[in-house]
Amino acid sequence: MDSPVPAVADVAARSVSESKKTNIFDFDRAALERFFEEELGEKKFRAHQVMKWIHHRYVTDFAGMTDLGKALRAKLEERAVVHAPQLIFDKESSDGTHKWLLGMDPKNAIETVYIPDKGRGTLCVSSQVGCALNCQFCSTATQGFNRNLSTAEIIGQVWIAARHLGNVPHQQRKLTNVVMMGMGEPLANFDNVVRAMSIMRDDLGYGLANKRVTLSTAGMVPMIDRLAAESDVSLAVSLHAPNDELRSELVPLNRKYPIAELMDACVRYALRKKGESVTFEYTLMKGVNDQPQHARELIRLMREFDRRVQMKDAAKVNLIPFNPFPGTRFERPDDEAIRGFQKLLNNAGMIAPVRRTRGDDIDAACGQLKGQVMDRTRRQAEFRKRLVAQGAGDAAA
Ligand code: SF4
Repeated sequence: MDSPVPAVADVAARSVSESKKTNIFDFDRAALERFFEEELGEKKFRAHQVMKWIHHRYVTDFAGMTDLGKALRAKLEERAVVHAPQLIFDKESSDGTHKWLLGMDPKNAIETVYIPDKGRGTLCVSSQVGCALNCQFCSTATQGFNRNLSTAEIIGQVWIAARHLGNVPHQQRKLTNVVMMGMGEPLANFDNVVRAMSIMRDDLGYGLANKRVTLSTAGMVPMIDRLAAESDVSLAVSLHAPNDELRSELVPLNRKYPIAELMDACVRYALRKKGESVTFEYTLMKGVNDQPQHARELIRLMREFDRRVQMKDAAKVNLIPFNPFPGTRFERPDDEAIRGFQKLLNNAGMIAPVRRTRGDDIDAACGQLKGQVMDRTRRQAEFRKRLVAQGAGDAAA
């Protein structure tokens, strides 16, 4: 854990006093229009004005929404709030990566990370407090799981980062991409995530193109099909191993939805729209999945995907060198091994960029997000026991 969470009690006080009111952050455009028409007896366009105040100008106080009549402002104040997560602290890395620790309730905090790069700014957003899926190489998994985040808590992360960055949708874009790759499995919190992604892509929200919002899943097969039916974002899959034996060990969800079923779902997802690709993330771990035979198996899997989707490079591979965290048994391969693995993929005609490690001086790199989780799975306690057994008493305290 980075540090204690001093301000979480403030969140409690605020949430208690405001809990009876409707949080506007929970509404996408359709839901907010309904709220205005059915609950407030107002016209739809008033909902649009409020969305612009919140997501374009970062105004959360109804009194400051000056193009609404006095009577409507008073009605809103009585019935609703615009309540974002509580900012506990933020840190900036020497490479410009920025991390926010955000309090969600008295016991739980999550992390959100912004990664600026040439001509783009990507925000990595969390969908749950902790994660129940227990991927073996993931720092979030060691924290256990507490609960899903609400739509307000998900879009609130975007709002806090966008406000901090001075992002002006449609004009001065600091935030060009969102990836649902932070803490949690987004498809296990389907409705809230889909609603939040709809605000990200709405012109009255953050105005991001569909392909600039990416949902990353460990492979919840039925929910991939539901996503294809109900949303229109880019799909990324945390693959990490090219065969079932290894993947079941690294990503336990594979025991329920093995690679063949997962690839079938990815093919269905890609085929729903012409020219659609799917990104497969592959975290390279020394001596575990970084050997030439793994590269060859991966190539076969990706080629088969391209063949079924009938498009060259329909499968995009992102290679992610493992980012170590305290107590993990995995190691990052050396640069030569990473380049060797990449070369095998390139020689087979595949584009497979190696993701540059960003923000590791503030523990914001891929797989390092932890937050503060009031664990309901007891996984945290087990992990600490294991650390102590390994002689890492202080780190586990
Ligand atoms: S890698 Fe993703 S799905 Fe797996 S435990 Fe970590 S947060 Fe959960």
